[in-house]
Amino acid sequence: MLRGATCQGRGCGAPVIPLADARLVVLSGVSPARPVECALRDALGCVAARRVIAAGCVPPFANSQMDGYALRAADTAGGDVRLQVVGSVMAGLVGEMAVGAGEAVRIMTGAPLPAGADAVCMVERTSTEDAGSVVLVHGPVAPGEYVRRAGEDIEAGQVVIEEGTVLGPPHLGVLASLGEVGVLVHPRPRVGVLSTGDELTLPGRPLGPGAIRDANRPALLGEMRASGFGAEDLGIVADDEESVAEALVAAATRCDAVVTSGGVSVGDRDYVRVVLDKLTGGQMRWMQVAIKPAKPLAFGVLAGSGTPVFALPGNPVSSLVSFELFVRPALRKMAGHRQLDRPTFDGLADEDLRRVADGRLHLARVVAAFGADGRLHVRSSGGQASHQLRAMAAANALALLPDGEGVRRGDRVRVMLLDADGLAPAGKGGGA
Ligand code: AMP
Ligand code: MG
Repeated sequence: MLRGATCQGRGCGAPVIPLADARLVVLSGVSPARPVECALRDALGCVAARRVIAAGCVPPFANSQMDGYALRAADTAGGDVRLQVVGSVMAGLVGEMAVGAGEAVRIMTGAPLPAGADAVCMVERTSTEDAGSVVLVHGPVAPGEYVRRAGEDIEAGQVVIEEGTVLGPPHLGVLASLGEVGVLVHPRPRVGVLSTGDELTLPGRPLGPGAIRDANRPALLGEMRASGFGAEDLGIVADDEESVAEALVAAATRCDAVVTSGGVSVGDRDYVRVVLDKLTGGQMRWMQVAIKPAKPLAFGVLAGSGTPVFALPGNPVSSLVSFELFVRPALRKMAGHRQLDRPTFDGLADEDLRRVADGRLHLARVVAAFGADGRLHVRSSGGQASHQLRAMAAANALALLPDGEGVRRGDRVRVMLLDADGLAPAGKGGGA
C-alpha cells in the first residue's frame, strides 16, 4: 500500500517501503549463531540449542519435607501414640539407624528418610517426654506424609529443557540440581556500537560551538546490555572516510554485529554511506521505511567477515526506535530466540494521540499502565520529535498509530511494550 511512494527528504531517491518489507531485509540477512557449550554461570538469558534430558532424579533420595519425626504410619493409625526415639538425622548426613515398629527418628528438613520409615510427622504435631527419648504423636499420620519421594521433582530420563528455551534463573537451578555444569546454547552476539559525527563531544570535554554530547552510544550500548547481548564500545568517529573505514574494519574482527548511528543521510559529510557501500561490496541496502520516527535505515553484511552492520539514523529517538524494530529482533534471531519482538497489547487512550496522515506508521512514545479497571491505559510521555529523547526515557511503550489522524481519548490503541516493570497500578504491584 505504501510501496512506490518516494522519499521526500534530502534528495534521497530510494522508494519508501513498508515496515514489514524492511524487517524482512534485515531478518533474512542474519541467522542463529552456531551453538557452543556454555558454563551455567554464563548461560542466563541464552537460548538452549539442544534439549536436556535428566541424567538422574531430583531429589536423588527420599527425604523429609519437615522438621519432625520419621515413623511408620501404621503405628499411628489408632490416633495419639507414644514412640521410642531411636536417633536423629540431619540434612546432609546419612543416618545409620532404621525405624522399627513403635519407633521414631528425629529428622530435619532435607534429611534422608531412615530405612523402615514411610512418613514424617511435623514437630508441631508432637510433644516429647523423658528428655526427648519418647515422642507423643498427636493424631494419625498418613503414609507418605511429608516425605519427598526420590524423583518427585524430576525423573531420570525426563526432558527438563526443550531446545529453544530461554534460560532463566529457575532453568539454571534445574540444570544445577541435576549436576550439569554447562549447557549447549546459541552464544549471545557481541555488538559493537559506533557513533559518528564531527559535532559529537566526549563526556568531560568542554562543548565547543555547535557541538553536542553523544547520546546514542551510551543509549545503544545500554540497549544491548538490557537485551542480554554483549556490548563493545567502538567510540565516536569523526566524519571522515578514513576514520569511519578504519573503525568498521577493526570492529569486524572482534564483533559479531555492528551498529552505527548518524551519517547515513546524503549530507555532504555522511561518509558512513560511502564506506559501508565499499565494505559490503555494494550490497548495503539503503532503505526508507514508512515509519516515523526512524525512516532511514541501512543494513548489510561486511564482505569477508560476514559481520552484519546496522546503520541507524543519528537522531537519538530514531536510533532507539530503529533498534526496537530492526536491530533487537535481528540480534535476537542471531542469539537463537524464536520470539523476536516485544509483546504488543491493546490499550485505552487516556488522551488524544493525534498525528498527521503521511502514509507512515507512527510510533509514539507513551506510558502504559494498568488501571484499577484492569485495562491498560495509555498516555503520551512527552514531546514526540525525533530529537526529544526525554520522552523516550519517560516511556515504557510505543503506541502504534497507523496512517490517519491518530486516536482520540477513549479509543483503543495498540502498544508495543518496552518495559513491563511499572505496568501495575500504583500500590498494586504485589509489594508491601
Ligand atoms: P545525522 O544522521 O548524522 O545527519 O544526524 C542527525 C541528527 O542527529 C543531527 O542533529 C545530529 O547532530 C544528531 N546526532 C547524530 N549522532 C548523534 C549522537 N550520537 N548523539 C546525539 N545526537 C546525534
Ligand atoms: Mg552526522
